[in-house]
Amino acid sequence: MSPFSKNAVKAILLAGSLLASYSSMAQAPEFSDRVKGFIDYDQSSILIQNALLFDGTGAPRKANQDVFIQNGKIAAVGDHGSLSTPQGVTILDASGKTLLPGLVMLHEHMYYTSSTAEGFTITENPRTFPRLYLAGGVTTARTGGSIEPFTDLSIRDAVKAGQMAGPDIDATAPYIEGKDSRIFQLARLDGIEAARKSVAYWADMGFTSFKAYMALSQDQMKAAVDEAHKRGLKITGHICATTYKEAADVGIDNLEHGFWAATDYMADKPKGQCVGGSRGGMTNNSPTEGVGSDLIDYMVQNQVAITSTLPVISKGSSVFTGFPENWGSVISDVDRARFDERRARFDNNPQWIEGSDKTLQAAVNYEMEFIKRGGLLVAGSDTTGMGGTLPGLANLEQIHLMVWGGFSLEQAIKVVSLNGAIYLEQQDNIGSITVGKDADLLLIDGDISADIRNVYKSEITFKHGIGYNSQRMIASSEKTVGGPGPN
Ligand SMILES: [Zn+2]
Repeated sequence: MSPFSKNAVKAILLAGSLLASYSSMAQAPEFSDRVKGFIDYDQSSILIQNALLFDGTGAPRKANQDVFIQNGKIAAVGDHGSLSTPQGVTILDASGKTLLPGLVMLHEHMYYTSSTAEGFTITENPRTFPRLYLAGGVTTARTGGSIEPFTDLSIRDAVKAGQMAGPDIDATAPYIEGKDSRIFQLARLDGIEAARKSVAYWADMGFTSFKAYMALSQDQMKAAVDEAHKRGLKITGHICATTYKEAADVGIDNLEHGFWAATDYMADKPKGQCVGGSRGGMTNNSPTEGVGSDLIDYMVQNQVAITSTLPVISKGSSVFTGFPENWGSVISDVDRARFDERRARFDNNPQWIEGSDKTLQAAVNYEMEFIKRGGLLVAGSDTTGMGGTLPGLANLEQIHLMVWGGFSLEQAIKVVSLNGAIYLEQQDNIGSITVGKDADLLLIDGDISADIRNVYKSEITFKHGIGYNSQRMIASSEKTVGGPGPN
């Protein structure tokens, strides 16, 4: 019998549909009472009516659109009134509102960083970070390096089991970091074999992504990349001792923080050493000529995805005009005071604000050029930096900042949705508002094309067709985001 006979094809189709029904069954967990308290919509048939729709593919926005959700999937999309739906379908009127795909964000942390008298401190926050990401529309998150590995794995599993509200998680292992690390809480891996063994160990423990860090040498990075790839897993990097080009040469899949963290701009950089970070190389060079342009080309040619993390460099800029009222309530008093004190220093030094604006604009310019040349740009919030980069809020801020810098709304939304899904090789299931994909959606209470700041008004996040109330998740997280108090 030919493998392509009718019966064989039928058997394959049957196996496919069995698999499909198994996976949708697996996606309907028993929700805890705590999680149920955040859910507004759990009906099997829901019709969202009359929304301004951005589908995440980069296609032009469409007004007055209806989206029909059935059994956790997007069953139909069309002009208002054009879809046939069953009797008794639950109607959600989205007139005057915006509908986006659930965000697929690739640099999320379950921790917060604080500057204390004892130095840089990293504090895990397993209680509220997962639901704050969901409140900000994030339905799939790759974490960006782990501080408490077993907590991160537990969060992933608790979300999957319906015991915690949060995005689906691709968990990144503890940082693969070299022996000269400046961060107290990271492993200091000495030598090539230590880097390889770290990847092997954490992969065996259940991590599915990896992150090379700033002090890692190129040889160590090669060992880590090879071990991850041997297991069919991907590895990204926030790097410094090794340049972007050297990382591309050993096969890294992704690099973090756009072109801002690259140390390729300095002709005099000693090989294998992290000296003074990127020393403003990005801002002082052009994306369209010389070393900046060459760097972009090299990343495109070697198919290295780049993660934009604009919120982490925006807090000293003129774009930041304070926390949206609801979101601002989640920061702890201690970290709020730290943030306000730092921001006041910028407000007292207008030239610092100008400098921040220039850096932010340069970052966007490089990223737009990278896309123009065929690169895969993805995005993440990176809940660190000059404080105030809050889970959930920062994911929406990423959209705002891209648009501020010159991206069209359609381009910006594609970066935070479909592009992330493509990187995770999940584009057949998530990342756009497309019939057959998971019903992962973000409903915003306002028209983002009339005012981009409406993007902060997240109302309902649908994940697998379950609608979670954003404002209730935010309100339940009051003053939880922060680190230790003053010494
Ligand atoms: Zn980070």
